[in-house]
Amino acid sequence: MRAAQHITEADGFAARWARTLNGGRQSLMNSGDKGRKRESKLEQKQLARAAFPMPDTLLKSMFDTVEARVEQSGCDHTMRFTEQWIEEHEQAPSSVLEWLKGHGGFCDCEFVANAADHWEQNR
Ligand SMILES: [Zn+2]
Repeated sequence: MRAAQHITEADGFAARWARTLNGGRQSLMNSGDKGRKRESKLEQKQLARAAFPMPDTLLKSMFDTVEARVEQSGCDHTMRFTEQWIEEHEQAPSSVLEWLKGHGGFCDCEFVANAADHWEQNR
């Protein structure tokens, strides 16, 4: 009796899973976002902070420097000032740039506007 019930449950699960697969990728893609919304603000902050590619002092230095240079020379919609700073401070370009792109955009002025904001809110 028990075993039979087990099989029914397993079938039910398999059927649901098949429906999910057929029913559209949308629901699968969104499941990650739903999980994130359930976390508290504090947890979100901790996660954001854990993902920072450098210590706060270096991040501040980078954003200050890039912002000043963008103000002075304008943004040519490359990452030239950011890349310069990374080189001067011997940081790992890939990890810093990946993080910036994930939270900012694709050029110096967007990093300063968006990634800096993300950092200020979570530091
Ligand atoms: Zn720009």
